[in-house]
Amino acid sequence: MERHVLKMNYVVLDLEWNQGVDKKKREKKKKVPNFEIIEIGAVRLNKNREKESEFSRLIKPQIYGKLHHVAKNLLHMKMEELQSGKPFVEVMADFLRWCGEDFIFCTWGPLDLSELQSNMRYYGMETLKSAPLRFLDVQKLFSLAYDDGKSRCSLEAAVDFLAIEKDIPFHRAFSDAYYAGKVLARIPERFYENYSYDVFNPPRTKEDEIHVVFEGYAKSIFRVFPDKQAALEDKGVVATKCYVCRKSLKKTIRWFTPNGKNFYCVAYCDVHGFMKGKLRIRKAEGQGVYVVKTTKLITPQQVEEIRLKQEHARMLHRKKRASESGGHTED
Ligand SMILES: [Zn+2]
Repeated sequence: MERHVLKMNYVVLDLEWNQGVDKKKREKKKKVPNFEIIEIGAVRLNKNREKESEFSRLIKPQIYGKLHHVAKNLLHMKMEELQSGKPFVEVMADFLRWCGEDFIFCTWGPLDLSELQSNMRYYGMETLKSAPLRFLDVQKLFSLAYDDGKSRCSLEAAVDFLAIEKDIPFHRAFSDAYYAGKVLARIPERFYENYSYDVFNPPRTKEDEIHVVFEGYAKSIFRVFPDKQAALEDKGVVATKCYVCRKSLKKTIRWFTPNGKNFYCVAYCDVHGFMKGKLRIRKAEGQGVYVVKTTKLITPQQVEEIRLKQEHARMLHRKKRASESGGHTED
């Protein structure tokens, strides 16, 4: 079980990327990343969260020759400007050297590290980790510390909220990393226990699986299975253990699915009450699926909500079966 306050350096990173203008062309070349990284900006904070160093580089595009209109509007950057950049592999190697040792990546939102690893793989580089990569999602931490924990706001809104001085313009990789670093440094450290995982590389073995207990819920990322059926037959995947006392619990609502992707159940612990289980089945790159399971203690009222969801799923299922068999029901 990994759980401790993080005491290491923080590499706060932001990427700018371009996307293929021609979607069909993109889909034809399967291995080509949808987003080509064209700029890396980062700040490194020491374990006392003081800024130690800055990193800012442009990358010379090699996949997409035109700047997508979205990037153009956001970046105020021209393709000519990017021509002065260095190739991705070179910049990335410099960047990793600059990161140093014993640090955790921090990003605003959950996307950057997957895009970064997708570009690394495209260029034949070793990815950041061959298993899920722990990182701090500053946008999420900000919401946990100052909002409801669920909603997400823009970086600029967070900067305004914390009355951080806006001394450089937004929307370039470096400036966004710079501000995200300032926001991170202001968030009380106890919130850092709510770290996230980038699952660009899902666990391939049992040893690589993630099982963490957070404040108020527990999360597991199970290894890749050949298909959904195999995943759902795994005892560990479908087990309901109380994450507080570790006891195996009886289910009061068995696993059901409203859509074939997410599965829900409810179990009951004599000591800790009702616990909701949720499975999300995700496609792994290439082949197979992996499973993300979350369990959470809930109120009897929330149990009723899940029961209604189950009834609704049953009804849809019956309707579907009826229409498939030509309208005859057998109730
Ligand atoms: Zn319990």
